[in-house]
Amino acid sequence: MHRPHTPAPPAPAPSSAAFDLLPPGAHWRHRFAALGPAFYTPMPPAPLPAPRRVAQSAGMARELGLAPDWWDADAALQALAGNAPLAGGQPLASVYSGHQFGVWAGQLGDGRALLLGELDAPDGRPWEIQLKGTGRTPYSRMGDGRAVLRSSIREFLASEAMHALGIPTTRALALVASDLPVQRETVETAAVLTRVAPSFIRFGHFEHFSHHGQPAELRALADFVIDRFYPACRDAPQPYAALLAAVTERTATLMAHWQAAGFMHGVMNTDNMSILGLTIDYGPFQFMDGYDPAHICNHSDSGGRYAFGRQPAVAQWNLLALAQALLPLMDESTDRALAALEPYKQLFPAALDTRLAAKLGFAQAQPAHRPLANALLALMARERTDYPLAWRQLSRHQAGEPASVFTRLFADQAAAQAWLLQYQELIGQDPSAHSPDLMLKTNPAYVLRNYMAEEAIAAAQAGDFGPVNTLHAVLAQPFTPQPGHERWAGPPPDWAASITLSCSS
Ligand code: AMP
Ligand code: MG
Repeated sequence: MHRPHTPAPPAPAPSSAAFDLLPPGAHWRHRFAALGPAFYTPMPPAPLPAPRRVAQSAGMARELGLAPDWWDADAALQALAGNAPLAGGQPLASVYSGHQFGVWAGQLGDGRALLLGELDAPDGRPWEIQLKGTGRTPYSRMGDGRAVLRSSIREFLASEAMHALGIPTTRALALVASDLPVQRETVETAAVLTRVAPSFIRFGHFEHFSHHGQPAELRALADFVIDRFYPACRDAPQPYAALLAAVTERTATLMAHWQAAGFMHGVMNTDNMSILGLTIDYGPFQFMDGYDPAHICNHSDSGGRYAFGRQPAVAQWNLLALAQALLPLMDESTDRALAALEPYKQLFPAALDTRLAAKLGFAQAQPAHRPLANALLALMARERTDYPLAWRQLSRHQAGEPASVFTRLFADQAAAQAWLLQYQELIGQDPSAHSPDLMLKTNPAYVLRNYMAEEAIAAAQAGDFGPVNTLHAVLAQPFTPQPGHERWAGPPPDWAASITLSCSS
């Protein structure tokens, strides 16, 4: 479906002085903007009335080199709400296209996000800063350009939690809220999330210039991504095929991370696929509770295209869409494109082998590990055993607690004990290869389950941002048991099963 451009509303005048986010000596860069006007529309954020601080990620702020008290300044709050310029920022909405639910959707783009520019962290790493929820852009189509507090809390918490788990992701710096009403299924309120990533470029950016017959822009974009993120591809005999192969590898790794963590993205459209293999655009995502490979976390996904167990294959399909988009840069050689994608079939299972072996406590994956992991997954699937809990309790047992901390999670005690016996036998073959400590650092005590986000959201909607901040702090150390937060390390309450998530965010 191709929806026509809708003109952006006129930009309101900024209400207060510019805020300088940067630490002394740092400066903004605008390398994406330098790609030229075909790639974006410059525009200021729409103001957000009476913004309030919800949360900041002190960890992200430290990585950016911001002053410890940066978040206390009213000017910071106003700037991140879109009410005052960020000194040196040059806000723009980028254009992209994409396939949504397997169908070409035509032009999409940053319909509610603005890229401010890029700044160098003290360690020399450049980070792009984006505001999400800042009002309509030329790419908003039917949308209002806003993000509601509910979904912004989910993205803030999830992206920082994923980072703490070691899963590639965009990050969150700060979240501000307002009483501005926003219509979704019900009337909710608006928020603006400050997101951070090396780049927000998606597969859909490439699809855009390819499908719209703009080979020069397509090449400029590919060169930009190669120069900044995949410099080794520059020297390859076929740089663009090498780029495709590199993105294939990163995507395979990401899928292995998601599957091993029991994480699923509810809207794996090509416009939500990062060219850097990052988890991006958290909407109806979920961490698995009871293990079910057929689980669909997005209520709007009636066909189950993005069911948990299908996600690795969907990623491959999305890579195919990217390959097709890159064909003009590969002399239209489908053979070359397919050859670059082919390794996915080995890379993904190998990456998953590695991750599952680590969950079992083995730093080096061996052929015997995967059947053992699969046997456990099959048992868990039969009983819908709680996924994070099963792995954590198995780790605790290996670290010295009685076997019952693990086996009590299963109705079929005999099956659980038989599996444990097999596992112990395998460990016994080479005890030095096995590490309970690795298990405790691989299988988290805390993941952001839906019900936890719901609790924090309900409190925030009632004006109490305490639970968001508490959850954020707990999830920043997901492998460390934290006194007072045992409940969040346990199974979800019964009502968690009734939570439904839709694309509406
Ligand atoms: P998503 O699948 O949520 O990542 O978004 C798909 C497309 O819809 C992207 O182009 C978004 O920018 C756009 N979009 C989603 N929600 C809104 C909104 N409330 N206002 C404007 N654009 C939106
Ligand atoms: Mg998106």
